Amino acid sequence: MGFPRSVEALVRELEKLPGIGRRSAERLALHILKLPHPEAVALARAIRDARVETRRCVDCKNVTDAERCEICADPERASSTLLVVEDPRDVEAFERAGVHRGRYHVLMGALNPSDGVEPRHLGIEELVARVRAGGIEELVLALDPDFEGDGTALVLAEALRPTGIKITRLARGIPAGSSIEHLNRAVLQDALEGRRPLL
Ligand SMILES: [Zn+2]
Repeated sequence: MGFPRSVEALVRELEKLPGIGRRSAERLALHILKLPHPEAVALARAIRDARVETRRCVDCKNVTDAERCEICADPERASSTLLVVEDPRDVEAFERAGVHRGRYHVLMGALNPSDGVEPRHLGIEELVARVRAGGIEELVLALDPDFEGDGTALVLAEALRPTGIKITRLARGIPAGSSIEHLNRAVLQDALEGRRPLL
């Protein structure tokens, strides 16, 4: 009974991915087994390359293949307003919308104790250090309007209070429970312009 050991190992790895349960992991594993050999190898190589050949930008912590990402390396970017986002897809959303000409800080997640994401996983100390280094006048928290985003905003505000930095949060025009990454230009622009002080 059961899968051969190598297939079982694949199922177990897939099961660790977010939103993938045992049954989905089995379905994906069986799909991979049916792929032509070169395609399966290409998938494995793509996973390896994406993980091994990227790193976190020294300034904004976004995923990049250089020491400093393109946005942080761009001298034309204003550094006074920092948009704090949950993940790289949010940076993409704001860049696509073209509504923010400043820089970013990427947390790579939001607080989620039941999923094991605690404050120490979000690099909050690095953000505090970046603020303390100077040159930043305002932090705009562009976090998703959900339970995790709200909790993250509170923890950030608390950690940053001693720095005296101005902190705002995107306006509540964003539908509750939605994700920043899926919002269109008009909504993002309204949310940014209507941002409200958090501290
Ligand atoms: Zn960067």
